[in-house]
Amino acid sequence: MSIPNSIAASAEQMKGWRQHLHAHPELAYDCHETAAFIAARLREFGVDEIHEGIATSGIVAIINGQGNGPTIGLRADMDALPIIEQTGVPHASTVTGKMHACGHDGHVTMLLGAAKYLAETRAFTGRVALIFQPAEEGDGGARTMVEEGIMDRFDISRVFGIHNWPNKPLGLMMTNPGPIMASVDTATVTLRGKGGHGAMPHTTVDPVTAMVSLVQALQTIVSRNTSALDQLVVSVTQIHAGSASNVIPGEAWMTATIRSFTPEIRKLAEERFRAIVAGQAASFGVEADIDYDLGYPPTINHADQARFAADVAATLTEVDADVPREMGAEDFSYMLEARPGAYMFLGTGPGAGLHSANYDFKDEIAPLGAAFFARLVEAAQPVREG
Ligand SMILES: [Zn+2]
Ligand SMILES: [Zn+2]
Repeated sequence: MSIPNSIAASAEQMKGWRQHLHAHPELAYDCHETAAFIAARLREFGVDEIHEGIATSGIVAIINGQGNGPTIGLRADMDALPIIEQTGVPHASTVTGKMHACGHDGHVTMLLGAAKYLAETRAFTGRVALIFQPAEEGDGGARTMVEEGIMDRFDISRVFGIHNWPNKPLGLMMTNPGPIMASVDTATVTLRGKGGHGAMPHTTVDPVTAMVSLVQALQTIVSRNTSALDQLVVSVTQIHAGSASNVIPGEAWMTATIRSFTPEIRKLAEERFRAIVAGQAASFGVEADIDYDLGYPPTINHADQARFAADVAATLTEVDADVPREMGAEDFSYMLEARPGAYMFLGTGPGAGLHSANYDFKDEIAPLGAAFFARLVEAAQPVREG
């Protein structure tokens, strides 16, 4: 690795920031203390502009380089998870039931490390927009920041983000030239029939029989409506009905998670899901309500930006530029819908997985993430000699 000396020299300071953030986790849009900590560091570094309160507690900060040029966006998420921490580390969460179990404390730290270096050295043209977003874990803070206009307001031309990835080789940076994470949609279906005595089913309209058939029929979305070369998951994850062995209930409900990698397959899955529910309900004489909730879209890298990011990463560490996609989801997808860019995974070696109560971000990896962000800016917007 060839981490810039000043970033390597900040390793202990970065560890201090990261462990402070880890001890003080905040959830969803309520990242006000985290944002105040970030803004205080950015002021110490002497960045040029700090815009707070975007998407409730988000920040966009600007560092000016040398002369005119485009603005590159670098994004870190700030929020924690509603988990009771079990690590037992000295810097463990001081708030019961809140925990940085996805390493967003580390993501903030890596972007702060890059900000400190970039504000000192300014060896780039144009500007850097440092994007600190709340509410990655389900509430779409990235979408809110995009909706509040950050891309146009700060004239951001392209965007990049990193997520740490346990149980991949320490320091390995990974990306690919297309979809890298899935969309996540959630369906809730309620079937309403007519309850009655279990001994006299002909006097009822049985939602249990209808539900069993429906769950079977939904399997054909993947097996009979989707090309074997495309990727789609339709998992029915809950079925609830009934309260006694001799009573046919009046109602049954279920939930499903639907995940895919392209807008086309995502749309097909929703259309088939709705049609199958309607058809099955009609055939059994039950009424059906569907709540089909569109969550995060697929995270789709722009091929040339992914290649550029991989090339920059390769000057620092080992790179896999064609890593297999992940079925998890990420709201950075909204930023990649708004602007070209790419998302990278950063391997952190063996240990507890993301969202585990035993997880802790690996501080030793933070200088590499900071160096990647910094080199990305210098390579994207180089200072021309003479
Ligand atoms: Zn997470
Ligand atoms: Zn995360």
